[in-house]
Amino acid sequence: MQPDIQELKNTLSLEYMCPNCYGEGMEIFHETKNFPIHTVLNMTTREKAVHYPCGDIVLGFCPSCGFISNVAFDASLLEYSPECEESQGFSPTFNEFARRSAQQLIEKYDLRHKTIIEIGCGKGDFLTLLCELGQNQGIGFDPAYVPGRDQHQQNYDIKFIQDFYSEKYACYHGDVVCCRMTLEHIYNTADFVNMVRRSIGNQTDTLVFFQVPDVTRILHDCAFEDIYYEHCSYFSPGSLGRLFRTCGFSILDLRTDYDEQYLILEARPAFKDVQPLPFPLEEDVKTVENSIRDFQRAYRTTMEYWRRQMQHIKTQGKRAVVWGSGSKGVAFLTKLNISDEIEYVVDINPYRQGTYMAGTGQRIVAPEFLQVHRPDVVIIMNPIYRREIQQELFQLGLTPEVLVPGKEL
Ligand SMILES: [Zn+2]
Repeated sequence: MQPDIQELKNTLSLEYMCPNCYGEGMEIFHETKNFPIHTVLNMTTREKAVHYPCGDIVLGFCPSCGFISNVAFDASLLEYSPECEESQGFSPTFNEFARRSAQQLIEKYDLRHKTIIEIGCGKGDFLTLLCELGQNQGIGFDPAYVPGRDQHQQNYDIKFIQDFYSEKYACYHGDVVCCRMTLEHIYNTADFVNMVRRSIGNQTDTLVFFQVPDVTRILHDCAFEDIYYEHCSYFSPGSLGRLFRTCGFSILDLRTDYDEQYLILEARPAFKDVQPLPFPLEEDVKTVENSIRDFQRAYRTTMEYWRRQMQHIKTQGKRAVVWGSGSKGVAFLTKLNISDEIEYVVDINPYRQGTYMAGTGQRIVAPEFLQVHRPDVVIIMNPIYRREIQQELFQLGLTPEVLVPGKEL
């Protein structure tokens, strides 16, 4: 006898406890098999890139808190090290945003001559900005930090610790705990935010500042290139707000920035006798559920659109390149299974140039290479960089057709 499908689904979903609220019964809604586990770890040979270990992406949705998580995620597979090249700091558009964010934070909370802890500081660019613009001192944690790479950092009072932040570092106290583009890499989000709250202890005037990608835009634009293995946790304003309140924080601000790509949360430890209220941006769980249904419908159409585009490029004998070798680029090429149709991926980050795309194996080149390669089509991985890239193409004397995922339908 065939098992009842719904019964099977229910049994399956009960296995998955939500790491964001400990509720049971996450509902599976999207799968990508065999995805490279690292997208920004530098692959020094094509051989290494195409044979790099893969994992599965199985997205589950929590009907209690609206959180989305890769239930097949295995953190033990990942190797965060200085070989990870995640920096966006070579883009003028990104740098302008980072500087504006730092300046706003300093002005809003009068962060001058304070101590700032940054969890997941990467190469330390943002922490350095906060220390430079507000004469603050900093303590940054990241296993991917590269000592001595940025000589400019020596001018400031910053200590970098090449490790994951954990409770063993609770001895370090900051007036601010900053954590940007890191929480989405952590599976057990409630455990982590509870740990941060415990580390703050009775220093209840500590400001916490978190920034994560907003899954609302990913679902709405069917931005499949924004779903990849390192990102196991996907927040909407509602699931982020609910998490922080449950973990003992009172939210001061919750907003989007960077063309609605990022969610920003500012909070302080909550007083025990005050029940913090939801922030206006927080949507209810039903809204996320509806967005998931829309995403599922749009996913097939989007994939078909890009397959037709690639077929068209091929039959017309055109030459195409992808611009942007980061996680979005790897996700775009992997999910569409593009190998020989595109030979090169462009990146302005010199530390990425000369390495290869994990999974599909394209060589990463500098923009100047395009003067020789002369592509007919450039596929830009993030629409926010469109103007910057088109300017660069113009300066190189090139006028290819430009395509951007997420805006095709
Ligand atoms: Zn949940």
